[in-house]
Amino acid sequence: MSMSAKGDIFVLVGPPGSGKGSFSGLCIKNFGWKQLSTGNLCRKQIAQQTEIGKQIDLVLKSGKLVNDGIIVDMVNQWLAKQLGRDKSILLDGYPRNLAQAKALDDFLKQEEFKDVGFYVVRLVVSDDVVVNRLGGRAVCQNKDCHAVYSIIEGSELRSKNNKMCDLCESPLEIRNDDEPEAIKERLKVYHENESALLGFYKDKGQLVFEIDASMPLDEVFDSFKKMAGLEG
Ligand code: ADP
Repeated sequence: MSMSAKGDIFVLVGPPGSGKGSFSGLCIKNFGWKQLSTGNLCRKQIAQQTEIGKQIDLVLKSGKLVNDGIIVDMVNQWLAKQLGRDKSILLDGYPRNLAQAKALDDFLKQEEFKDVGFYVVRLVVSDDVVVNRLGGRAVCQNKDCHAVYSIIEGSELRSKNNKMCDLCESPLEIRNDDEPEAIKERLKVYHENESALLGFYKDKGQLVFEIDASMPLDEVFDSFKKMAGLEG
C-alpha cells in the first residue's frame, strides 16, 4: 500500500509510554512532518499560567483527561492554521475518546479537508512495559522542545550526559504525572476509552496500522514505513 507523504493526517493511538512522542520525533526528522501533541499543548498552557492552564493543572497531575470542549477547541484552532500547508500531520494524543473522535470526524468533513488522507496508527504495547518505561522517563524542561529521554542505564534513549537535552541543552525533568499513582490512572483512563475509540474507526471501515511498540524505536519506525509504503 502506498500514499503520498504530504498533506495527510496520522492519528496515533496507544497507551501512555507507547512511544507516540518518540515516534512523532522520527517522522519529523525523516519526513519533515508536523506534530500536534495535545499533552504538550496542555503543559505549555500550565507553564505559561494561562486561564486554561490554571484550570487543567490538577487534572494533568492526577492523570485524568482534560474536558473535551477545551481540548477540541485547542485542536481545531491548530488544525485550521495548517490549512493550505502540504506537510503531513501527526496527531499525538488526540482523539483520546469517542467524543473527541466524533469531533475530529466532523471537523474534517469541512470542504477544505476533503482531499486529506486520514490514517490511524496504533502502537500496541503491554501495561508492564509501559510502567517500566514511564518510571524511567525524563523530558526536556523547555516547553518549545519537549524532547523525551530515558534515565535507564543502557537505554537507546538516554541523553548524552543524562541531565541536559541533546537538542536544546535545557535541563531535563521528570513529569509530575509520571509518578506511580498518576501512571496507574492514565493507564486506567486509556483502557476505559480504547475500545470505543477503535470501535468507532472499525465501524467506519477506517484502515488502522497496528504496530508492535514493544520493539526498539527504530524497528517500530521501520515497520511503520513498510506498512505505510513510505520511503525515508
Ligand atoms: P501520555 O500519553 O503519556 O499520558 P500526554 O502528554 O499525551 O501523555 O498527555 C498528558 C495529559 O494531558 C493526559 O493525562 C491528560 O490529562 C491531558 N491530555 C492530553 N491529551 C488529551 C486529550 N486528547 N483529551 C483530554 N486530555 C488530554
